[in-house]
Formats: sequence, C-alpha cells, structure tokens
Amino acid sequence: MTTPTGTDRLGLTARTDVLVVGAGLAGLHTATLLARQGHDVLLVDRRTSLAGAVRTTGIFVRKTLDDFPLPPEHLGPPIRRVVLYPPDLRRPVALVSSRDEYRVGDMAPLYTATAATAKTAGVRIALGTRYAGRQGDTFRLLSRDGPTAVRARFVVGADGARSSVARDLALDRNHHLLVGAEEVFKLAGSDEPPTFHCVLDPSIAPGYLAWVVNDGQHAHVGVAGYADHFPDGLRGALRRFSASAPGLSGVDRPEAVERRGGPIPVGGVLRRIGCAVGLLVGDAAGAVSPLTAGGLDPCLRLSEYAAEVLDHALHTGRPDTLSAYDGADLRAAFRGRLTLRRGLAQVRTPTMAQAAFTLLRTPVGRAAAGRILFGDKSFPTPAR
Ligand SMILES: Cc1cc2nc3c(=O)[nH]c(=O)nc-3n(C[C@H](O)[C@H](O)[C@H](O)COP(=O)(O)OP(=O)(O)OC[C@H]3O[C@@H](n4cnc5c(N)ncnc54)[C@H](O)[C@@H]3O)c2cc1C
Repeated sequence: MTTPTGTDRLGLTARTDVLVVGAGLAGLHTATLLARQGHDVLLVDRRTSLAGAVRTTGIFVRKTLDDFPLPPEHLGPPIRRVVLYPPDLRRPVALVSSRDEYRVGDMAPLYTATAATAKTAGVRIALGTRYAGRQGDTFRLLSRDGPTAVRARFVVGADGARSSVARDLALDRNHHLLVGAEEVFKLAGSDEPPTFHCVLDPSIAPGYLAWVVNDGQHAHVGVAGYADHFPDGLRGALRRFSASAPGLSGVDRPEAVERRGGPIPVGGVLRRIGCAVGLLVGDAAGAVSPLTAGGLDPCLRLSEYAAEVLDHALHTGRPDTLSAYDGADLRAAFRGRLTLRRGLAQVRTPTMAQAAFTLLRTPVGRAAAGRILFGDKSFPTPAR
C-alpha cells in the first residue's frame, strides 16, 4: 500500500530479507545494490522527506565522480581552485588543479533522485519510520501509524554517526567526533571561478576548518571542530565566521538561508562493523576520512562491499560469512590520515595556525597540500 508521501505502508508484521535503517547515501546505495541482486529490501528513515534535514555540504571528489553514476543534473559546476587562509586572512595560498576536482551536490533533489532509483530497483521505502530496537531477528519500528514489528534475515545500520543499530548489535561505536554547521544559499552567478575557500583558524574551527564553497550557483558557509573547544559554541563560531567569510565579496546574501549541521566521525573506520545479525555502513561504521572529514566517497565504497557480503550470505544461507566484513583491515589504510588528524587537532591557537602557513607557503608545503586536496586517494578497496 502506498502512503500520500509515496512510500510503502508496512503491514503489522512485515518480513524482509534485509532491513536497512537510514536513507542517507550509504543506506540508499546498499539497498539499491541488494534489490538489484533480487533480494527483498525494506529501507526505513525517520525523516518524512529525504529533501529535508540535509546534513552535508555535498562536496563530491573527483574519484567519486569518476566511479559512481551520480545524477549530473543535481551536481554544481566543477571546482578546480582551492584557497587556504590563515586566521588573519592575509596572504592566502591559492592552489589550482589542472583537472576538475570537486562538484557540490544539490543534495535535496539528489537524495530524492537516488531514492527514485532505489524504488525502481525494487526497494520498499518507508519514510517517517524510526527504528526503535531489536529482539532476535525482529526489529521494532515506529511511525505515525503506530508500532510495527519487522522480521529480517539481516539488518544494515546506515543510521549515521550515532547509530542505534550499532548499539543494539553490540558493534563498535563512534567516539571521536567533530560537529559541523553551515548556511547555504543560492547565488545568481559569480565573477570569480568556482572556488573552495578554507580557513585554518582554531578560534573558529577548533581541530578542523572553516569553509566557503562558492561554485557560482550556491554558496556554503560553514565551520566544524571539536564540540567542547569552540570558545562560544558552534553557532557562535558560525555567526562570527559568516560575518567575515572570504570568497563572498559582491555576493547578495539573502535573509533566509538553509541551515545544515551534524556530527562527523573522524576516528577512522571502526573495527567491529559486522556480526551474524547485520552490519554497519557509512558514518555508522566510521567510514569518513579522519583528515578531510569527507564521508560521501567512503560511504558509497563501503556500501558496495557490504552489499557483496550480504548477497553472499543471503545466497549461501550462512550468516557467519558476515564476519568477513571487518573494519580492522580497512582501518590500517587510514594510519597516515589518522596521524595527520592528530596533527591538525594540535593546532590549538591562531598563532600556531599562522606559523603553519609559513611552511604552507614554501614549495614543499604547497606540494603537500596539493597531494591532500587533489590526490587520487580514496576509501580503501577491501580485499575480496
Ligand atoms: C556539516 C557537514 C558537512 C559535510 N560535508 C561533507 C562534504 O562536503 N563531503 C563529504 O564527502 N562529506 C561531508 N560530510 C560527511 C558526510 O556528509 C557523511 O559522511 C555522509 O553523508 C554519511 O552518509 P550516511 O548515509 O552514512 O549517513 P546520513 O546521511 O547521516 O544518513 C543517516 C540516516 O539515518 C537516519 N536515521 C538515524 N537514526 C534513525 C533511526 N533510529 N530510525 C530511522 N532512521 C534513522 C537519518 O534520518 C539519516 O537520514 C559532512 C558532514 C557534515 C555534518
């Protein structure tokens, strides 16, 4: 049965091969791949519309754009230019790539289009439906229509950085988190080339960066950092940054802006991300680059692996095959980025950030920044 929102209404005790909790990009992708293999998949999300409560800037890196068929009509113009600023915003370091490096997704229609692809593949989607707990192979869901019990052979926790599924399956959970917030508004055009501006200032973004992405179609103005290190809280930091943010000169800023925000796990892929009952993908699995805090490429790549492992388990009828889905191996590939994350976390004062720019302005510093910003590294491909 279909509800007015176009999603499936669940029976009182539904059954499914795989229950996927969370319709972010990780859940949508995992569900679609499994449905394409012929499995019955139920995807639930507590949000009533996937176009609302977006929690990401939506910057996709070149490797993702090369490897995944994202709908081009929902991607902004390519960005090749990155400008890095010290706290006083003087003498920034501009880096320009010879290739298209980033495109920013128009995330509300992009999620909607991705959900339409999932439905076409056969995924049953139930929005406004919250996962509320587990008892054996039965999972409790709550919606406006009341509680439902769903029996599933496997459950996938795609329910974000603070995953309830991870808790209920006694899997590892994220403890090392940043929080981020941004304002987004439409632009009527821009005189400058599409540019990603990054400010290294621990008084605004303690342990991370403040950013302005201006691709000529949309502007994103944001900050992220360790929650308890913001001198006047996340909102205060965003307000201060927004008032003096670079890259917006001559831009008409509307009164009303879209606000986004959320936690970002940066402790690296978790070790225990699978068991005989199910597995974790995306932020729930800690699949985010500890250094750049980019999670869109990792969530798509880990979802492919998760779907392969689940397909195998469903075909063989052997739940123990899920034990192959192990975060410890993947985590090893993050060692370098975890070390750099610790380095970034140590930049505690504006004076230290200013000093870091002395190095960044040298040829060696610029080359190192170029490798991080324009490199070919992506989330590690798990050994099959
Ligand atoms: C401010 C900000 C900016 C970012 N910018 C970028 C960027 O530009 N590029 C990049 O690569 N990464 C970025 N990231 C990280 C990236 O957005 C995430 O890593 C990625 O979106 C994770 O996708 P996901 O599907 O795992 O989780 P999510 O997109 O968080 O999806 C989880 C879903 O689970 C649902 N859910 C949670 N609990 C329940 C429940 N109990 N029952 C039902 N549903 C539930 C939620 O409603 C949500 O829809 C950013 C993060 C933040 C916070």
